[in-house]
Amino acid sequence: MIENHLVLSRKYRPQIFKDVIYQDFAVNALQNALKSGRIGHAYIFFGPRGVGKTTIARILAKRLNCENPTENEPCNECTSCIEIMKGNSNDVLEIDAASHRGINHIRELRENVKFSPMGGKYKIYIIDEVHMLTPESFNALLKTLEEPPPHVVFILATTEFHKIPETILSRCQDFIFKKVPLLNLQSYAEHLCKLENIKYDDEGIFWLARKGDGSVRDCLSFMEQAMIFTDSVLTGELLRKMVGYTGINTHTTLLTQILNDSDYISAIKTIQKLFIDGEDLVKFVWDFLDFLNALTLVMENLGERENVNLPAEDIRRMQNEFSGINLETLNYLSEKIYSIYEKLLMLKLRSSFEVKTYLEIQMRKLAFDMNKPSLSGVLERINQLTQAVQGEINSIPKDSILKVGTVENDAHGKINDVESLIKEQFAGTEVDSSKMPDLGK
Ligand SMILES: [Zn+2]
Repeated sequence: MIENHLVLSRKYRPQIFKDVIYQDFAVNALQNALKSGRIGHAYIFFGPRGVGKTTIARILAKRLNCENPTENEPCNECTSCIEIMKGNSNDVLEIDAASHRGINHIRELRENVKFSPMGGKYKIYIIDEVHMLTPESFNALLKTLEEPPPHVVFILATTEFHKIPETILSRCQDFIFKKVPLLNLQSYAEHLCKLENIKYDDEGIFWLARKGDGSVRDCLSFMEQAMIFTDSVLTGELLRKMVGYTGINTHTTLLTQILNDSDYISAIKTIQKLFIDGEDLVKFVWDFLDFLNALTLVMENLGERENVNLPAEDIRRMQNEFSGINLETLNYLSEKIYSIYEKLLMLKLRSSFEVKTYLEIQMRKLAFDMNKPSLSGVLERINQLTQAVQGEINSIPKDSILKVGTVENDAHGKINDVESLIKEQFAGTEVDSSKMPDLGK
């Protein structure tokens, strides 16, 4: 598997700026600097893991020392380019600060910096994960950055900008790298599938990109695993199993059961089936919550692909199957499921059987809660009744009330009746008192 991973990610590692995915901003800025000959002594590449920082650092190194750069790109054919690509150039040193954080390594580097480059114009130091250096190492590095020999270029890469001392930052030009959006990762994954002659479908491509979560490297490494697992058939049906996603069918079934069934038996059966199938029930609850939120976004017309993060086909199904769903009910259910999930995490149950038991109890409770008359509906009705009663009172001449003195009491009596009826209906339910109507007392 490791061998295979190296094959794909090495095979498709971009060798020129133009082939880097989605980092146009950083790439353009670097190319402009190269074009005008304004080469800095130190660059900081900051951004999430796996988006191309080291790749671009190497391309930059090649471009700086290339014998025949064309259109601001390295030629990838000269001795210098080939040595750098093979990783045996004496002028380009890569240091992984995560494993070489001590002062000795940086002292060694400071000694090395003094010597002129062997073949190319520049000596280039690429320090990966630079935030891992110890304070002493940073101090030693700073001394070099303060008086850099003219032939030296430092490229410092980091995922944690805030851990770099201000003194270092002030001597570097910084370049920000971004997470690669889902759609860009999808097109990239599809492009690779075509090049590799791999069978795939749209949903399969979606899962490759979603697993990448903004990182080209993670997307590729999942793709390699998936090729082994599925014998190179990257379809949604197979990849769904790999990522442990139960699929929209279970979600739509459970939602329909909760909303339509007056009993809770079918919802419990759904939970039991998932348990028997060996699904991770905690993850399922989160996925169901994610589905409810996605459905809400779709209903609110906010369901663009990047927001919803579910396969396009699932989004279409949501639009078709739940077009008439009541948003208020959906929000109420989402809140309920969220608190079930929250409690589930707090309980730290030991076995999947315990999780199943907990969820069965919750399904019963949920069925009861969802089938109670809607609170806002009842409140609206109370308001109508109150207004009607007030209207009756107002229509009676004032003096007759004074004379008889019983009609108003009668009206209050009616209001009190309504009030006690409500209290009876909602015994034990928490009611937001600010939403209660003014009963005119
Ligand atoms: Zn070259």
